[in-house]
Amino acid sequence: MFGELTRASDRPALRFDGPAGKVDLTYRQLAGAAGAVAAQIKGKARVAVWAAPTVQTAVAVVGALVTGIPVIPINPKIGSRELDHILADSSPDVILREADIDITASAPLPGFDVPDEHPAFIVYTSGTTGPPKGVVLPHRAIKSNLDSLATAWQWTRDDILVHGLPLFHVHGLILGIVGPLRRGGSVRHIGRFSTEAVARELAGDATMMFGVPTMYHRLATDAEANPQLAQAIGRARLLVSGSAALPASDHERVFKATGQRIVERYGMTETLMNCSVRADGERRPGTVGPPVDGVDLRIVDEQGNPLPDGEIGEIEVRGPNLFLEYLNRPDATAQALRDGWFRTGDVATVDPDGYVRIVGRRATDLIKSGGYKIGAGEIENVLLEHPAVAEAAVTGEPDEDLGERIVAWIVPAGDKPAEQDLIDHVATLLTPHKRPRVVRFLDALPRNDMGKVTKRALGQ
Ligand code: ATP
Ligand code: MG
Repeated sequence: MFGELTRASDRPALRFDGPAGKVDLTYRQLAGAAGAVAAQIKGKARVAVWAAPTVQTAVAVVGALVTGIPVIPINPKIGSRELDHILADSSPDVILREADIDITASAPLPGFDVPDEHPAFIVYTSGTTGPPKGVVLPHRAIKSNLDSLATAWQWTRDDILVHGLPLFHVHGLILGIVGPLRRGGSVRHIGRFSTEAVARELAGDATMMFGVPTMYHRLATDAEANPQLAQAIGRARLLVSGSAALPASDHERVFKATGQRIVERYGMTETLMNCSVRADGERRPGTVGPPVDGVDLRIVDEQGNPLPDGEIGEIEVRGPNLFLEYLNRPDATAQALRDGWFRTGDVATVDPDGYVRIVGRRATDLIKSGGYKIGAGEIENVLLEHPAVAEAAVTGEPDEDLGERIVAWIVPAGDKPAEQDLIDHVATLLTPHKRPRVVRFLDALPRNDMGKVTKRALGQ
């Protein structure tokens, strides 16, 4: 998994910025500390890691991975009911916490190769659409996907990643920590995300950033107000967005303010990354690019029949990036897989050149109104272009006449806009049947810790 770690070089591996100051580890130091963790947990079947955004978390994860012991990352802010569920479901032998992990320790790394099909992680999904499920990810999926991303992003050992994400999901932990360490590059974790910290790192020697759309929204606002910050962001080699749809309006705002076009990628816990715009490809707003190397992708109708380009349907994927199973959920695993294809539950269309446009989720974002299939994402993007709209979410709600009617949930940017004004805006820019029939105003959209809108909380 980690060539540079085995070489134990003096190259910088990790820097974490926390309340107690900065902590730096070279590959040699990381190898020693991870070797000590490996010795400590030898013989265990599974370990949970209390995944605070600290260097100890990274050391614990690396120590377990090199030993072949599956890791269950736990959100440090988890509530007691959810923790009980995860612990009962995954039955780890031990929970590794910050205090158990000595980053100054030094022990040799275990010298055995973990088989590719061996589980590396059990990661719980975000719980956006239902209770979180434990996704069992083999070493094979992680290695192959990180290598495909390296090709897509021209990601090398010279890259220094600015990281401000939590460490208990695929994005922050597998892409953000395991990814750079597999490349032999380094990570700068800035602790709590702030645009100032990102700008500081990018003005220095950092080359890339991974973030969620809410971060880029803040970055756009701050870059518009602060030319120096905008200039620092403009120096990045690559800004990558994922975990939820990046509004096309935020893509454009970041571009106008900084000269950077964000690269969007699309993935999920079960499949890691399916699609990404390539570093040298066209960065088209509102799209997540083509499938990454090794991933087959198709769009199907409700019966699973493949649809031609341009038609709206569910994304199915297959390839070496797929998970092994949902832990203790053979029913859910069987339901999610059809003839080797994984049913993502996401709906999309594909441009003629293979760029995928995510519309949203089958369960909440595919609205059937007046005989049309309408994607929530397209309408949300257009609503966000309206100057009076700060945030927008679109849902469908039962309607006697239309089957479902389109509802727009709006957080105003300032004074409340007129409802009809927003309806006309959509009818003019898209087509009249895509216009919201109802507009509801809110102070904020309900979001989970990854900044994803939880549409269930909007009465879905
Ligand atoms: P749960 O499966 O528990 O309901 P979840 O699907 O949010 O939660 P994750 O696996 O963390 O859990 O998230 C994957 C989902 O995030 C994808 O299925 C997709 O809906 C969404 N997503 C990720 N990247 C993008 C993107 N670039 N554009 C649109 N949606 C995205
Ligand atoms: Mg999901």
